[in-house]
Amino acid sequence: MSKFWSALVSELQPYVPGEQPKMANLVKLNTNENPFGPSPKVIAAIQSELNDNLRLYPDPEGQALKEAIAAYHTDYGISAKQVFVGNGSDEVLAHIFQGLLKHDKPILFPDITYSFYPVYCGLYQIESDVIPLTESFEINPEDYKRPNGGIIFPNPNAPTGRYLGLEHVEDILKANPDSVVVVDEAYVDFGGETAISLVNQYPNLLVSQTLSKARSLAGLRVGFAVGNEELIEALNRVKDSFNSYPLDRLALAGAIAAFEDREWFEKCCGGVIEERERVTAALENLGFEVLPSKANFVFARHPSHEGADIAAKLREQGIIVRHFNKLRISDFLRITIGTSDQNSSLIKGLAFL
Ligand SMILES: *Cc1c(COP(=O)(O)O)cnc(C)c1O
Repeated sequence: MSKFWSALVSELQPYVPGEQPKMANLVKLNTNENPFGPSPKVIAAIQSELNDNLRLYPDPEGQALKEAIAAYHTDYGISAKQVFVGNGSDEVLAHIFQGLLKHDKPILFPDITYSFYPVYCGLYQIESDVIPLTESFEINPEDYKRPNGGIIFPNPNAPTGRYLGLEHVEDILKANPDSVVVVDEAYVDFGGETAISLVNQYPNLLVSQTLSKARSLAGLRVGFAVGNEELIEALNRVKDSFNSYPLDRLALAGAIAAFEDREWFEKCCGGVIEERERVTAALENLGFEVLPSKANFVFARHPSHEGADIAAKLREQGIIVRHFNKLRISDFLRITIGTSDQNSSLIKGLAFL
C-alpha cells in the first residue's frame, strides 16, 4: 500500500502466473508450454526481420497476420476484417472484458476456470455470477440460461481439460442472443473442434485463441480473436485507445510463419495427443483419477495422497507440476504434457505412491 496508489490499484487482486524457475534441468510441467518448440520456419522468419527496419513502427493493424489467420480458416469463410490480433490472448481477453463484457448485468463464467477472468472483472469493475461446474467438472449449458451481461469459458476448460461439444456451445449461443458469448480456445488444437466454424452463424460469438500453446510460441506473445465484424470493431476501438502497436515486427513475422507451416503444427499437436494418452494410462495405473482431457495437460487426483504432497515430492526430484489451493480442486494436480523423456521422468518420479 502507498498513498500514491489509486483506490482501484489498492483493491486489485492480480493474477499469479505459474512460476518460471531459473534452475537448469528441470522437468517443467507447470505452465502448459509446448515441449516441441516452434517451427524452424518461424525462427527463420523472425531472424529475417532482424534488420534496420526495427527503427520503424510495425503495422498497427497487423494486417498481414490477420490475412494469414483468415486464410488458415478459409473453410469457414472468415475474412481478415473478422480477426483481431493482440499481444498474447491475455491482452485480447482484457480488451474483450472492457469492450464487450462490461454491461449492467453480471457476466457468467464457471467456478473452476481460467483464473484471469475474475482478475479482469476486478480491473474493469465488472460484476460476475460464478456458475459451478457439475460434479464431474463439466459445463452444463442449462446453467447459462439466466440473465447476464455476457458469458465466457475456455473450451477445453482450464484447468480441467474437459471439452464441451460444439452442439452444447450452440445451445448456449442460442439461449443468449443478446449477450456476447466468448469461447477461449487456448487449447482447442489438442483434440477439440473450433467454434470459429460457427462465427458466421452467430453474431454474438467471439472465439479467442493463442499461439502460446499449440504453436509453441508462449515467448512471442501473440493471441487473436475471430468474430462478427461489429465485435472486432469494438476491440479495435479499445486497442487504439490503449496501445496502437501491440505486436512488434518480430512477433508479426513469426506468427505469420507459424500459420503457414501447417505440417509442423499438426505434427506437434499429434505428438502431444499421443503422449497425453500415454501419461493418462500411466497415471491411471498408479491409481489416479484422470479427467478426460482434450488439452496439452491432464488434471488428476490420487485417492490416498494430497495434491500438495505429491507436488512437493515431485519438486524434490526437479519435477514441477501445478497445484491450485482452491475449493473443489485442491486434491488435483495439473500436469502439462512434456516430451516423451519428461513424461517418463514424471511417471518414474511418482513411483513412491
Ligand atoms: C494460456 C491461456 C491463455 C493465455 O494465453 P497467452 O496468449 O499466452 O496470453 C488464455 N486462456 C487460457 C484458458 C489459457 O490457458
